[in-house]
Amino acid sequence: MVLDPDAQIRQTIAYFFETFLRVGSACQTVKVFRKEGLCFPSRRLGGTTVFQPLTASSAMRVLNNPRYAGVYVYGRRRYRRAADGTKKIQRKHEYSEWLACIPNAHPGYISWEQHQQNLKLLATNGRGYELARVSPPREGVALLQGRAVCGRCGRHFRVRYVSRRGKREAWYVCDRANATLGWPNCQSIAGQAVDEAIGALVAERMTPAAVELALEIRREIEARHEEADQLRCRAIERAQIEADLAQRRFMLVDPSNRLVADTLEAEWNDKLRALAQAREERERGRQQDQLVVDDTIRQRLVVMTTDFKKLWNDPCTANRERKRLLAYIIEDATLIKLLREGITNIHVRFKGGKTETLTTRNPKSSAQQIKTPTTIVELVNKLLDDHIYSEIADILNQQGLRPGGSARPGRSSTRFTALRVAYLVHRYALRSRYERLRDRGMLTAAEAAARLCIHEATVIRWAEYGLITRHAYNAHAYLYEMPDSNQPAKHSSRWDPLVDRAAALKIAKESKSSDLIEAGVV
Ligand SMILES: [Zn+2]
Repeated sequence: MVLDPDAQIRQTIAYFFETFLRVGSACQTVKVFRKEGLCFPSRRLGGTTVFQPLTASSAMRVLNNPRYAGVYVYGRRRYRRAADGTKKIQRKHEYSEWLACIPNAHPGYISWEQHQQNLKLLATNGRGYELARVSPPREGVALLQGRAVCGRCGRHFRVRYVSRRGKREAWYVCDRANATLGWPNCQSIAGQAVDEAIGALVAERMTPAAVELALEIRREIEARHEEADQLRCRAIERAQIEADLAQRRFMLVDPSNRLVADTLEAEWNDKLRALAQAREERERGRQQDQLVVDDTIRQRLVVMTTDFKKLWNDPCTANRERKRLLAYIIEDATLIKLLREGITNIHVRFKGGKTETLTTRNPKSSAQQIKTPTTIVELVNKLLDDHIYSEIADILNQQGLRPGGSARPGRSSTRFTALRVAYLVHRYALRSRYERLRDRGMLTAAEAAARLCIHEATVIRWAEYGLITRHAYNAHAYLYEMPDSNQPAKHSSRWDPLVDRAAALKIAKESKSSDLIEAGVV
């Protein structure tokens, strides 16, 4: 057994395997072939080979067939005869049950080891809901798609996207035990902080290697275009040979044999058309390849050679590309969310086997986001000794402090009010101002009236005129302070009205305080 003598077939198959190695999925390989306008050889009954668009099923067939790896295999399938005598496949055998398997029995397109690796890759690609999964990179923003491992149960995280207030958020969710066993979700970790940390780490790590990687990618792209062009050339050659052959056949036919001559002429025309088409195809493909290298990729590569970080952070860079870059560097990352500490530990395993641990802060829940800081609560607690709610609200506002609710979008103008302060006092079970004043020995109006042997209404009037001191415990209620000495006596006289008594008391107090000040100066 030898490789196909036809160079076009050989090169196409080789290109097929190379493409699979590069993109890592049968479907993506089919897409590459379609995009580049390449056809795949397929053998018809009777030995003729036709080139037709590659399908996913034929891609899978080729990838699964060990003959392409140069292996002699016997007994991959078991057959039995049906009642009508036809041969039917009963079932496929596992690799271990093959009757014969001789590697390197004949030349192959890939090595036996490569074939095994391809099979493994196909298996992991297809096993979407099973444990170990590194899926081909997709467009989503979650960088660790397929690479994040749960630090609590060891299963692979799944990526979930949530729309919240018009923003798409990525979450790493460990819900596999939920899906299979009905257990509650193991962990859910918000993606943004984790992805940022990983991005920063990778950008930092990649600076020295950036040039190398960029050059490698550049070489790869150019080689790929070169190969595609060669394949198209082969297609032209083949079309040319077939056209020549058809021409020769037409020339050789006896002109009197009209019917045969007509058929051969039509065939010749067809071949010429196919030749023209193949030429066009090549020209188109070359122009396209040129375009791709010239405009976008070359620019990107230049940027990348100079600054990997810029490319990584460039919003134009597709996430798929970022993940592909990441695949060069990171094997996987294990995430553990520590609820009490409010952090997430990320253990990153690099391709080379090195490990590194990152720590990110867990994002606050919406309830935590609008929580009033403890410093403000403590300040309110202190201010309650001397102020009522409305005054406290004014003081807080003057100091530029804002209630927790102002963190909500569109609520930045929210200010403290008496009601909000009252809410804080009740929510944090602070001692009320009334209790504090009572602790300091303040009396209610009734108690003060009893102490001074006067009527409650008189207590209120005396307080209004300043004969006794009162303290507000809310906007319209007071407690009264009783002086230890010099308590004002009950006294009513037409010639000594309350106004005059208050004025006399004020003057007495002022002179006393100025005496004190002078004494202090001396
Ligand atoms: Zn888990």
